[in-house]
Amino acid sequence: MSTMNVAYLGLGAIGRPMAANLASGLPTSVWNRTAAVAEAHAREHGTVALAALAEIADAEVKVVCSCLPTDTEVAEVAAIVGPLLDRGTIWLDHTSGDPDGSRRIAEQLAEHGVTYLDAPVSGGVDGAVAGALTIMIGGGADTIAEVGPVLDLVAGKVVHVGDVGTGMAVKAVNQALLATSLQATAEGLTVLARYGVDATTALEVINGATGRSFVSDKLMSRATSREFPLTFALGLLDKDVRLAAQLIADVGVAAPVLSLARELTAEATEVFGGDVDHVQAVRLAEQRAGVELR
Ligand code: NDP
Repeated sequence: MSTMNVAYLGLGAIGRPMAANLASGLPTSVWNRTAAVAEAHAREHGTVALAALAEIADAEVKVVCSCLPTDTEVAEVAAIVGPLLDRGTIWLDHTSGDPDGSRRIAEQLAEHGVTYLDAPVSGGVDGAVAGALTIMIGGGADTIAEVGPVLDLVAGKVVHVGDVGTGMAVKAVNQALLATSLQATAEGLTVLARYGVDATTALEVINGATGRSFVSDKLMSRATSREFPLTFALGLLDKDVRLAAQLIADVGVAAPVLSLARELTAEATEVFGGDVDHVQAVRLAEQRAGVELR
């Protein structure tokens, strides 16, 4: 097969732009649980919409990409799709899922001669649109090299972190750090607000000083503007920090800061709901301090 046909499964906030970028360089089929989303994607980006997963059998794909909420949904889809793929197909899973779950999916797909790589992404919707995601991959180096043409279209940075499962583990810890940073930055700004320092002014200093972070630089303006566009659901962040907590328990180390971030993220999800944007988690610190960071 000379052309590298790709199928992208799951056109959510991240999947839609990733599949659009793939289509700029490779023949790309798309599937989404809500089929109208795939049809709209095909019209807008020149992809081919698969009305049902079964249609993948005729798409002659070399690479399947997936980006679904968790490894549970990926396992369900893989159970249907795996038997329909040619042996030698590579499955690139961009979902942020459970490391153990990803190893089980790898075993499930290996029965059909399909090689699985866990390849979660970081960089948000902006990074996905720009084709500049950071991708952490677990799996074999030769397989990763084979999917180079796919990765080139969606990633700015690709790091091979180890065997299957390690990509998911790195992603979970990255997300626990994001959750920590969200809560810590919100706390710092609410303390300053109570002391009479305007949050935007404080951020101007912090973003030129050593307290700067991705959260302070790129995300906290959502709090100061009170506009919280939904780019990444709080419920998904809560899922990620739970996965990190499981990892921490599995390796058996004490991680008090990350464990507290997990508790605070769970509380924020309970209070504000899982469907709001993740930056709304800062409202927890605001409520405690009785101020808004506007
Ligand atoms: P969205 O909530 O925007 O999209 C979820 C996607 O999964 C939709 O295509 C949805 O289909 C589909 N889906 C949901 N349930 C099922 C199911 N049971 N069976 C099949 N398909 C299903 O999620 P995101 O794109 O934000 O996130 C996807 C993954 O990427 C998550 O693991 C997330 O943690 C990770 N991620 C997200 C980032 C972000 O900034 N948004 C950044 C980095 C990683 P439908 O349209 O039918 O609802």
